[in-house]
Amino acid sequence: MASSADQKAKIIDGKAIAQTIRSEIAEEVRGLSEKYGKVPGLAVVIVGSRKDSQSYVRMKRKACAEVGIKSIDVDLPEDVSEADLISKVYELNSNPDVHGILVQLPLPKHINEENVLGAISIEKDVDGFHPLNIGKLAMKGREPLFLPCTPKGCLELLVRSGIKIKSQRAVVVGRSNIVGLPVSLLLLKADATVSIVHSRSQDSEKIIREADIIIAAAGQAAMIKGDWIKPGAAVIDVGTNAVDDPSKKSGYRLVGDVDYKEACKVAGYITPVPGGVGPMTVAMLLKNTLDGAKRVIGQ
Ligand code: NAD
Repeated sequence: MASSADQKAKIIDGKAIAQTIRSEIAEEVRGLSEKYGKVPGLAVVIVGSRKDSQSYVRMKRKACAEVGIKSIDVDLPEDVSEADLISKVYELNSNPDVHGILVQLPLPKHINEENVLGAISIEKDVDGFHPLNIGKLAMKGREPLFLPCTPKGCLELLVRSGIKIKSQRAVVVGRSNIVGLPVSLLLLKADATVSIVHSRSQDSEKIIREADIIIAAAGQAAMIKGDWIKPGAAVIDVGTNAVDDPSKKSGYRLVGDVDYKEACKVAGYITPVPGGVGPMTVAMLLKNTLDGAKRVIGQ
């Protein structure tokens, strides 16, 4: 933490904002159930027993229960065939109690992720990774049915913190399908002037320094230094990197892509890691599931 004398940036409390959103969702779910007797349902599919995947899935299922969304649990063994997994996805596609389908990634090596994600009905693609949803996001005048959760969470943090996006200079660090690329498209839709820097970019530091809004999603611990940041810029740090820390029981701690201590002295706004973007990702998954259910119920 920067000392209070150094501290300039306003901390964007993602945990608190996510909690507000979850309460809003819980209220809408109650309303749907009272008015139509329907409860939104999210199928959470996990293959195998990777510890990190299991803990993400547990967290998502618990988050569903807390807002009254029904979680349909599908646990498949590590050696399930791609064909069997896809036929499970088809079964969920045609189950009227399921409004969203989430397949936890990564899948075991013998399964082609693209084939599985492409099998999810776009009406139930609450992760927003289907090529049709991403394609619509990229096109002017088209609206995807769902936006990917982490990018949507980043924009929600900016909007709910009162940060201007229109006509502002935004720099996205990273161009992955799940974060960098879709968050760039969302910023463009919100009328920002967007640049993307990535591992092959030159002069990244110089480009980042021009940004009014920085979205850091490179997966490189504390890569963005304080003097790369324009004074007063809004910094959304998606990066979640484990670094050794013998003082912790686990032996590690999580840090972002931004040097938090330095950035706090320069930025206007900043998200902490953890407690920034992470909680928003789960909240957006719940929101997408609710929106999917509302579309079916005709709300
Ligand atoms: P990825 O590895 O798929 O992509 C990383 C991107 O960063 C690539 O496009 C690469 O070109 C770029 N990059 C790498 N080194 C760079 C450098 N030195 N300069 C500029 N660009 C560079 O990762 P991802 O899945 O997009 O995730 C990025 C980070 O966000 C990771 O730390 C991940 O753990 C985190 N993440 C967090 C959440 C959340 O909910 N908080 C969700 C998804 C990902």
